[in-house]
Amino acid sequence: EEYPEVATPPLPALSPSHTESRWSDTSYYAAKKKKLRSWCQLPDGNWALGKILSTSGSESVLSIPEGKTIKVNSDCLLPANPDILDGVDDLMQLSYLHEPSVLYNLQYRYNQDKIYTKAGPVLVAVNPFKEVHLYGNDYIEAYRHKSIESPHVYAITDTAIREMIRDEVNQSIIISGESGAGKTETAKIAMQYLAALGGGSGIEYEILKTNPILEAFGNAKTSRNDNSSRFGKLIEIHFSSTGKISGAKIQTFLLEKSRVVQCAEGERSYHIFYQLCVGAPPALREKLNLMNANEYKYLKQSNCYSIAGVDDAERFRTVTEALDIVHISKEDQDSVFAMLAAVLWLGNISFTVIDNENHVEAVSDEGLYNVAKLIGCDVLALKLALSTRKMRVGKDNIVQKLTLSQALDARDALAKSLYACLFEWLVERINVSLEVGKRRTGRSISILDIYGFESFDRNSFEQFCINYANERLQQHFNRHLFKLEQEEYVQDGIDWARVDFEDNQGCLNLFERKPLGLLSLLDEESTFPNGSDLTFANKLKQHLNSNPCFRGERDKAFSVFHYAGEVTYDTSGFLEKNRDLLHLDSIQLLSSCSCTLPQIFASTMLTQSEKPVVGALHKSGGADSQKLSVATKFKSQLFQLMQRLETTTPHFIRCIKPNNSQRPGTYEQALVLQQLRCCGVLEVVRISRSGYPTRMTHQKFARRYGFLLLESVSSQDPLSVSVAILHQFNILPDMYQVGYTKLFFRTGQIGVLEDTRNRT
Ligand code: ATP
Ligand code: MG
Repeated sequence: EEYPEVATPPLPALSPSHTESRWSDTSYYAAKKKKLRSWCQLPDGNWALGKILSTSGSESVLSIPEGKTIKVNSDCLLPANPDILDGVDDLMQLSYLHEPSVLYNLQYRYNQDKIYTKAGPVLVAVNPFKEVHLYGNDYIEAYRHKSIESPHVYAITDTAIREMIRDEVNQSIIISGESGAGKTETAKIAMQYLAALGGGSGIEYEILKTNPILEAFGNAKTSRNDNSSRFGKLIEIHFSSTGKISGAKIQTFLLEKSRVVQCAEGERSYHIFYQLCVGAPPALREKLNLMNANEYKYLKQSNCYSIAGVDDAERFRTVTEALDIVHISKEDQDSVFAMLAAVLWLGNISFTVIDNENHVEAVSDEGLYNVAKLIGCDVLALKLALSTRKMRVGKDNIVQKLTLSQALDARDALAKSLYACLFEWLVERINVSLEVGKRRTGRSISILDIYGFESFDRNSFEQFCINYANERLQQHFNRHLFKLEQEEYVQDGIDWARVDFEDNQGCLNLFERKPLGLLSLLDEESTFPNGSDLTFANKLKQHLNSNPCFRGERDKAFSVFHYAGEVTYDTSGFLEKNRDLLHLDSIQLLSSCSCTLPQIFASTMLTQSEKPVVGALHKSGGADSQKLSVATKFKSQLFQLMQRLETTTPHFIRCIKPNNSQRPGTYEQALVLQQLRCCGVLEVVRISRSGYPTRMTHQKFARRYGFLLLESVSSQDPLSVSVAILHQFNILPDMYQVGYTKLFFRTGQIGVLEDTRNRT
């Protein structure tokens, strides 16, 4: 076993839960009888807040907004919270905790630009898609001095800093959400707060400047987000023992390199290409023989060159300034730009048929010349590397000519590798520059900005990896919340309630089991010269059909039952993406280059291939370099990440996208609901509901409801008053527990008291 197992706390024994009845017992008599506000689901699936006008038999008539009335089955009604609870800071304060009340509360706040809400220990952030006035020095100061209490990224970050210092434990801020939900912006807001509080040495400024660089090289316009991160990122910010920032380290995950050679209509490749094309000063343009973006085939195919409201030339200057600030020399910067230009020129290399077997040869045009010049190799060597492959047959070396599609693949593979290597090299260079305090004496706060769960009409290898990572992160999340919940009960001396705890270990096993798990089977099939997406799909069906988290589908597809829902994956391209081959010819070409960067790239590729876990033989049997499969490398990164996170105190931020059109002021209930499910917010709510979610100190409870008492109580201490109230209202013993400092209630209990109080 090459990976250390992730240490996970043992799970307590669970007894059968009463969770399910909790979910349904919310259709309370109170709402029906007393003509109170109630939620009813409209035919379009949305929830509306209505008032019950009459109830007969199993049907109720309600008045709903816009002067309408509606007749519904009474079982479909859910009680609404009293309006004093409208827009509470923390969803856990809601007496009735169910989907419509959660949705409504978030929307109520969103309409007032209160985009942050707590769900117990989790911060929910709803993307405003406009500037909201919640940031900057005044706010930072206010949160630092705790003069504002409303939920905020600053508040979470502040807690992380305090806990790091108080407990001497590393912290992590784990941000997740769909594409466009606001993860990257949220991460930057957290970094801003850290820099303000831990700044002083100047290194914080450099750390902030890594953002425009990584965004230029790793973000792109997609159909879902004009600035979509196409990689996952963990930034670990180090603090000295005096609480000042002393350095940082960035780790990236799974850059989408296919985007370099292929992207969909209306999307763009990585920002830096367009920035370079419009922003390069004349001397640089000339040196790189740069043309306009629309003259490069790789950029032209998606027919999209600019982004509304973005000045790429200006951004180019920002990026070069940022590169200066993180100490990348002008010389190195020029090498970086040369690599970018080489990638663009590679796409313009064309091929011509040279014999009657459809073999091709690269055309000696400006594309070929420019690439050779930019990477520093011989034109003929480049031509050969793109048009032929050296193979070993028995003891002989033979040279095989390529067909057009093989040659295009070889060219694109080279472009993708160049770009991916460049990205990794850049991150490493930045790390060297940020690692100022080499001796790490203090503690760290890590911020994780990683793609959330994805489920599209068509899901491929990328979604497979991303969803696997999310499955792991979800387990981390669940276990942490479970632990917190338990601690709070134990601390207040009440019976450790039976909290139903959903574990996703089954799904993780489906991925990770050896030798018959998804990842092992994928790697195995990737090593077979004749393995194909179809043989892979068939193998899965053959071995995994009895697994409850798996279902074989027609053709080359299969489904996985993830914690966040079922996803059907199409195996087309799985093997090729997992093998991610670069011809040995191309690697040798790079190592023969006179420029430094290609040489460095070649040597990293060769070192990686010295650890053959997957013997990645090409279909046609050629002796390609042996290297780690993409899935295996990703799994190993993920395990390291989880190990690192296990040693930290986590803080969770869930970003929510309120609409798919990047528009302010538009809140689509169904879309929000689906995300709340996927990112586990409803799970937090559910876990909490299955215990005693409403908590109030004895004092507060006595003060708030004491006046409702019909008979006076002999002792005036808050606990006695509280108990008398509970008796008078006939709150059943298993609906509450009395702790040392607080009363703990099952969901819905306070609602009844609150209603009485309001009518009195
Ligand atoms: P991806 O997974 O595609 O990288 P993401 O979750 O990182 O998406 P962001 O790039 O952070 O999403 O956000 C998308 C856009 O939403 C931003 O470019 C910005 O316009 C807007 N946005 C996000 N958060 C905020 C905020 N707090 N205030 C104002 N606008 C925001
Ligand atoms: Mg992002």
